[in-house]
Amino acid sequence: MIQEKKRTFNVFAASKGLRSTRQRDNILDVFLATHQHVSVEELYLKVKAVSQGVGQATVYRTLKLFVEAGLAREILLHDGQTRYEHVLAGEHHDHLVCTGCNSIIEFENETIEQLQDEIAARHGFMIRSHKLEIYGLCSRCRT
Ligand SMILES: [Zn+2]
Ligand SMILES: [Zn+2]
Repeated sequence: MIQEKKRTFNVFAASKGLRSTRQRDNILDVFLATHQHVSVEELYLKVKAVSQGVGQATVYRTLKLFVEAGLAREILLHDGQTRYEHVLAGEHHDHLVCTGCNSIIEFENETIEQLQDEIAARHGFMIRSHKLEIYGLCSRCRT
């Protein structure tokens, strides 16, 4: 799975005329090994631990490339922060985002997915991707 992701990214990078770099490979390795919704800074700190000399701006630009390549998804927090997660083939979920503590809860709901397909079909619309982020207070922040 991870090898496949790497190959996908290398094909994408080549199509954009980007030569492969050690730094980008390291960032991809660390990102694919992370099973969280990470901020640029969090990922940067993880990358720094294994690959010195990588700047936060490089991590940021590389994450943007991963999003463009379809390897990563962005989750927008209410205060303008962005978190990133990697997309595993065939896996889809949506998010409840807490505006109190910025925690992110994942959920999957077949009915919601079907409704989206029905709405798109009614409009003759072909869905490529979607994301659903619901903002509010988590149970801990409500008390
Ligand atoms: Zn909360
Ligand atoms: Zn998620």
